[in-house]
Amino acid sequence: MERQGTIKISSENMMPIIKKWLYSEKDIFLREIVANASDAITKLKKLISLGEAAEGEPFRITVTADEKAGTLTVEDNGIGMTEEEVEKYITSIAFSGAADFAQKYEQAGGDGIIGHFGLGFYSAYMVSERIEIFTKSYREGEKGVHWESDGESTYTIGDCDKETRGTKVVMHIAKEEKEFLKENVIRELLKKYCSFMPYEIYLDPKGKEDEKPVNTTEPLYVKQPKDCTEEEYKTFYRDTFNDFQEPLFWIHLNMEYPFRLKGILYFPKVRKQVELERGQVKLYCNQVFVADNIKEVIPEFLMLLNGVIDCPDIPLNVSRSFLQNDREVQKIAKHIVKKVADKLNDLYKKDKERYENCWNDLSTFVKFGAIKDDDFYKKIKDVIIFKNLAGEYLPLESFFGPEVSGGDADAGKQPDAVYYVSDEDKQAQYVKMFKDAGLDAIVAGEYIDPHFLSYIEYKNPTRVRFLRIDADVAGALKEEGEEDADVKEIFEGFLKEKGVKVVTERLKDASVPAVVNVSEFMRRMSEMNSFYKMGDMPADMTLVVNTASEAVQALKTAEDGVKRDAAEYIWLLALMNYRPLKPEELSAFTATSTRLIGNYLKTK
Ligand code: ADP
Repeated sequence: MERQGTIKISSENMMPIIKKWLYSEKDIFLREIVANASDAITKLKKLISLGEAAEGEPFRITVTADEKAGTLTVEDNGIGMTEEEVEKYITSIAFSGAADFAQKYEQAGGDGIIGHFGLGFYSAYMVSERIEIFTKSYREGEKGVHWESDGESTYTIGDCDKETRGTKVVMHIAKEEKEFLKENVIRELLKKYCSFMPYEIYLDPKGKEDEKPVNTTEPLYVKQPKDCTEEEYKTFYRDTFNDFQEPLFWIHLNMEYPFRLKGILYFPKVRKQVELERGQVKLYCNQVFVADNIKEVIPEFLMLLNGVIDCPDIPLNVSRSFLQNDREVQKIAKHIVKKVADKLNDLYKKDKERYENCWNDLSTFVKFGAIKDDDFYKKIKDVIIFKNLAGEYLPLESFFGPEVSGGDADAGKQPDAVYYVSDEDKQAQYVKMFKDAGLDAIVAGEYIDPHFLSYIEYKNPTRVRFLRIDADVAGALKEEGEEDADVKEIFEGFLKEKGVKVVTERLKDASVPAVVNVSEFMRRMSEMNSFYKMGDMPADMTLVVNTASEAVQALKTAEDGVKRDAAEYIWLLALMNYRPLKPEELSAFTATSTRLIGNYLKTK
């Protein structure tokens, strides 16, 4: 016979688990206890607004560390608890008074309450050997209640003579955790977790007259965007991120529906281009700090920004793997991405000049985002800009043809070739030839550009392929003309053994006798090889000899010795316009030049 049973979980078994596993960092306990105090005030405020409780003194939370007594105390003047409530909410684990309250006052808008799970209180046992609660409910005629437990499995409860409504939690800090009694440690923790909490928090007031709360109860992001000034945004940025450079611009997020989300995202000035600098996006839940850079909520590429995001719908203390699969969280992430894309588009449309001025700082972020997030790419592809050879910014898409409907691939259409310069100085000769011939190219010299251009090709296989400016000069600049076998033979005579291919073309620019080309494909392969440290792979070079050049034509009739030297000279000139010469090439260049000069002077 089978029978049904109920699995029994006893608190003796649960407590060690809660203490050990629930929170990865011990110091979170302070956040939990202060958040409970804040919740207690929010609830009381609600009741006052409904006329169910009487007004009283200003709301506040007081934190006191007493090293001598070994106690850390958090006191609030919130809703308080009756004896039954203490029994119900504190002693039954995983029974949340917050959930109860939110449900009861849902219609009246039980917003702003932080607690969710009914476990936060117990996190204080990570650092305490004993906790006492002194509390008095807001209800008329209720007595003060004293509760005490060592967090194992028993507790005592009884009356006390607490006069004022609210709750005082006294944590008797364990010997090994004495640091949590130090004022500066507690101050830092309050700063980290409670900077934006909605009620004033005072640390160790000791009756000082000039006492100041440790927090800002109304951080800028909770205000309506229309009520915030530019100066306020900048000050908030400086104070929150300790960055004394002004941000480029910002996005104020403020939505209520279909989910609640508030925050400000700042685009920082980038200091160095080489590496992607990490920003900091702080996540809050009802003005309580949850964590930095949670990549489950904020897409990775947005972490290059600085910002604060407040999502009351994201529970404070759930595991990250849970967040990853949470549909709400995914919606939030999508929304943030959309807002960022909107802002960029908007700025581009409304103030192109400012956008272009910011582009240096923005571009890595935008390109990285495009590669990482397809939705983002689709939304911002029209505002990805590159400089052309004349130094003007143009949208990347304007360099290649539009999407043709009806399937370009089927029609066998070749993608447009777009040339790019990765280093204007090193590729100066090619740039000059392009300019002289009235051709254009984009300047793509950023660290991320090789990856980004590959990504664009991958997304637009029928529309564009990118060629570095030295990859196919012949293709770009040649005119009608026959191959010149004689010239070819002269060069092949000494280049074949070096593995360099020779072609002859009539180029538009007669002043350049020859140029080196390395095919885009081979160069990318070789770059990839060295990137992955797979050893050097020599890139296949082609020497394009320009039959339009007088010097090249003159070669044919020169006497043998000079012919060879002059051809080698032309080759080395082309090579040094492609890359710096190696030592043995440099000595060959010196020797050849010297002989040529000698010969020339002899004939004069
Ligand atoms: P949660 O806050 O997630 O609900 P906790 O274990 O932190 O879980 O707290 C359990 C319940 O105890 C709270 O929901 C609340 O009803 C009650 N409580 C805790 N601290 C206070 C306080 N300072 N004032 C009034 N009630 C409190």
